[in-house]
Parts: sequence; structure tokens; C-alpha cells
Amino acid sequence: MAVTVDFDAEELWLAEDPANAARPGVLSQARYGARTAVPQLLEVFESLDIPATFFVCGGDAVRHPEILESVVAHGHEIGHHGYTHRSPHLMSREEEESELVRGIEALRPIAGEVHGYRSPSWDISANTLDLLVAHGFSYASNMMDAVRPYTHPEHELVEIPVHWSLDDAPHFWFDATSWNKTMRSAREVAEVWTEETEAIHAAGGLVTLTVHPQIIGRPGRLRMLTEFLTRVRADSGVWFARGREIADAARRAAVPA
Ligand SMILES: [Zn+2]
Repeated sequence: MAVTVDFDAEELWLAEDPANAARPGVLSQARYGARTAVPQLLEVFESLDIPATFFVCGGDAVRHPEILESVVAHGHEIGHHGYTHRSPHLMSREEEESELVRGIEALRPIAGEVHGYRSPSWDISANTLDLLVAHGFSYASNMMDAVRPYTHPEHELVEIPVHWSLDDAPHFWFDATSWNKTMRSAREVAEVWTEETEAIHAAGGLVTLTVHPQIIGRPGRLRMLTEFLTRVRADSGVWFARGREIADAARRAAVPA
């Protein structure tokens, strides 16, 4: 199991709408995630001895260096999540590369070498994989075409696949602009995650769980996450690992696409 945390603080809201920069109420959700939820997530992971991978936008790293330093101090991996939270498919190749480089420069002082990349919203462009190889990345985590890691056929890059079902956002995201989506209960989400996790485990695959501090960090959901991870942790047949370790293992196993 890969427990992945998309840090997504202010950059998420600024990408949704640049006018959010002048909306302290909207941005308070980001602050809750960074300052309140992340320390609690670190406690949960520590109590269960679970290593995690945090994907972080460069802009959020500049905004919250002390939070990310504590993530690193707890032994978790930091991966690249854009500089802003804008999708690469909306950018020219030059703009995408400049975001990638700025992000690396912002993360490196805190995280050291950055090995993994996950785009905002798992939405990559036709240039993304080329750029990741050119900038020395070891793995990417954006695709929904498998339930186990694989090596991209034309790129020296391991893919750690994802899926919306194992993400917190599709179940809990509430859009105050349109009000056209309701939130699910934590119990329902635990059911979805458990069904999917058990079936992937039975198939010998990789469960990539994706959570966002400002979403999963609400008290009732955090309780659910703790109970869910406690149950998975109790199975000695599950290997919990950071993205880089999974990529290394996939390379050793040379799993073809
Ligand atoms: Zn994100």
C-alpha cells in the first residue's frame, strides 16, 4: 500500500480561481489542512508505523516550510505536485518545464532530491513524461490503467497507478460555487476503500490511497482513516512503502506495461 498525501494548501484554491487570493474564508480551508490536519496525520502515521509520500506544490512549500520540515523529520517522502496547482495539459511545453523546475527548486531545500511526480488532478500533458525523464525523476503517479506499478513503455519511469475510488476528494469534495455535489459519510467512504483494498490485495496489486489534509483532516474522517489504516496494518501480508521504494521494487521486478 502506498499512502499518499496531496498536500494541496493555498495553491489548490488559487488554481481554482485566482480571485480566491482575496477570500480569507476560502483560504482558511487550506490553512486548516496545513497547520491542523498535517500534524494529526503525522501522529496517525507514526502510531501505526506507516511511511507516506506527500506530493507538494512548490508554492505551498514556500508558504509552509516548517510543516514540510516536520513531514521530512517524520521520515516521509516529498514528491513534486507542480509549482502551482494548474494542470499541465493547459500549459505549453515551456511553461510546463518552467513549473517543473521551479517546483524542484522550491522542494529541494526541504526534501533533498525529489524522485516522484504527481500532477495536479492526475492530469498530465503529452510532454509530461519526456520532461520528467529529462529532469531525472524516477517515478510518476497519475495513471488509472493498472492496479500494480509498471515501467512506462517509452520512458525510463515507473508508474504508481491511482484511481478516484481510493481518493478522498471525489467522495467528500464540496463545491460552494455550484452546490451540486453532496458529501458522503465517512462510513460510506470506508466501505468503498475497504472493498477496493481487499480486492486489490487479493489480486496481489498496489493500493494507492490518496488523501488531502484539508479534506481527510476533518475530525470524523480522520477517525475513519485511522480505523481503516489500523485494519490494513493488522494484516502482516501488506507492505507499506514510500513512492520511491515502490518504484525501486518495480524496477527490480521489471514489470512490463
Ligand atoms: Zn492536488
